[in-house]
Amino acid sequence: MIGLISATSAGAAARDRLAAAWPDRVRVYGGPVGEAVRAAFAECEQLVCFLATGATVRLVAPLLASKAADPGVVCVDEGARFAVSLLGGHGGGANELALEVAGLLGAEPVVTTATDAVGLAGLDTLGLPYEGAVAAVSRALLDGEPVRLDAESAWPLPPLPTADHGACTVRVTDRDVTPGEREVLLRPPSLVVGVGASRGVPEEEVLDLIAAALREAGLSAASVAELATVDAKSEEPGLVAAAARLGVPLVPHPAGELAEVPVPNPSEAPRAAVGTPSVAEAAALRGGGELLVPKRKSARADGRPAMATCAVVRRPARGRLAVVGLGPGARDLLTPRAVAELRRASVLVGLDQYVDQIRDLLRPGTRVLESGLGAEEERARTAVAEARAGHAVALIGSGDAGVYAMASPALAEASDDIDVVGVPGVTAALAAGAVLGAPLGHDHVSISLSDLHTPWEVIERRVRAAAEADLVVTFYNPRSRGRHWQLPKALGILAGHREPGTPVGVVRNASRPDESARISTLAALDPATIDMMTVVTVGNTATRTVAGRMVTPRGYRWQESTPEETS
Ligand code: SAH
Repeated sequence: MIGLISATSAGAAARDRLAAAWPDRVRVYGGPVGEAVRAAFAECEQLVCFLATGATVRLVAPLLASKAADPGVVCVDEGARFAVSLLGGHGGGANELALEVAGLLGAEPVVTTATDAVGLAGLDTLGLPYEGAVAAVSRALLDGEPVRLDAESAWPLPPLPTADHGACTVRVTDRDVTPGEREVLLRPPSLVVGVGASRGVPEEEVLDLIAAALREAGLSAASVAELATVDAKSEEPGLVAAAARLGVPLVPHPAGELAEVPVPNPSEAPRAAVGTPSVAEAAALRGGGELLVPKRKSARADGRPAMATCAVVRRPARGRLAVVGLGPGARDLLTPRAVAELRRASVLVGLDQYVDQIRDLLRPGTRVLESGLGAEEERARTAVAEARAGHAVALIGSGDAGVYAMASPALAEASDDIDVVGVPGVTAALAAGAVLGAPLGHDHVSISLSDLHTPWEVIERRVRAAAEADLVVTFYNPRSRGRHWQLPKALGILAGHREPGTPVGVVRNASRPDESARISTLAALDPATIDMMTVVTVGNTATRTVAGRMVTPRGYRWQESTPEETS
């Protein structure tokens, strides 16, 4: 929950905009600001104070407890020009919140935490448990000293500007080692502990068993991602409590599925009790991986039979593939989510001209794999292969990456052993629509006139269908140097079903510095003026030009009273 506090009417107005945008995330604290800040500080994870930074500092100072526990605090000034991350930049999430608030209010985010200031991911913000010399190693990264990355297990980390030598080390490991003086250990959530239990098993017996298994195998408890067991034990109090103490979920699996998992040490007892010859080993191995600790039983001081079993598996790293649409060109049409994914990726794959569009946003240490026009399949394969190797990959495309772009070849390649995240982008038809007016106000369709991958007969059939159905049509890839007869042919088909005066919008380089747009008609349009940087939008039988803008009404009853200028 985010607590909102304001003192003046200008502050209250900005506050109300946040409250309206995030109804489920925020709570407004009214009354005297001192009391409001105290109450919100105690009750919320984050605060946005529409107050001077000085006033806010004085109010929160007596309340500060620790970096780990205090809420993140963002200040917004009277003119809503700045959103300042004041307190808890990383741990309290105030840096992220300042960016979000700034985005919403049209303010400038102000973030001063050192690692963010130069675009590095803070070592404490990578989302992994960490130990060791965070301050020393962060400083070395900031100062541009070489820092060695020692990744025993591949994990989809954000980029770090690391070298293969250096006095400081970032070590990614699930082993139970002590960090060196100039070393940070990052703990990937790579271990799955399978647990079996008899009814009534004490929590301590489970925890002791797991601790002993990890200790003897030289593994760190900080890398345990989950406890896995059989369905029948999902509510066993000792297991539930042990998982809670370890701060991990207890993940139950159906006995039938566990019975299918090949294990080294099956036995009869669990088969009779819960219907699978193995619980601990099978549950741990259910998602694949390497068995590091085979089934072992708890030791009981009183010599009574063991009530718990466990087994430990190192699961394979799951890489992450983000398929990111960059929008039509303008920086402010690139979504904040796309920016976050570009900065989250350690490997960026894309066409060189699109990489140029966003290169300044990349974090230091990002590996860029760019290629020229064509080579689409190869780019898709590269992106998937990098993700399968355990990396965090962003595959970029202009507009929306799913529209005549990289998402489909990439996902046609991708197997289910990677995570895939799609980030939508503003596609050319929408960017052009906004420039032209409101051409897409009724049913519409996009058709690519490129016959590189599609036989012309198929394209023509679709144009005919769109013509007959009176759909507004946006042509992508309308015309290139070697491909010039298709557009006139397509326009001819539409002209068979629409008046010669039907508006046709032509937008070249929408939202780019050299954007140009014009509105013509089916009869007057000269296709020779159109190239590959252009989209062409043909209205339906109700589309009109009004005050120089292309407007497709919501229905087919065009109101006589509307000021109308048919060109
Ligand atoms: N994925 C892209 C489309 C790729 S196909 C998207 O969603 O927009 C390439 C075609 O898109 C170009 O030939 C052109 O017709 C159109 N296009 C892409 N960006 C454009 C822009 N900024 N202005 C006009 N047309 C554009």
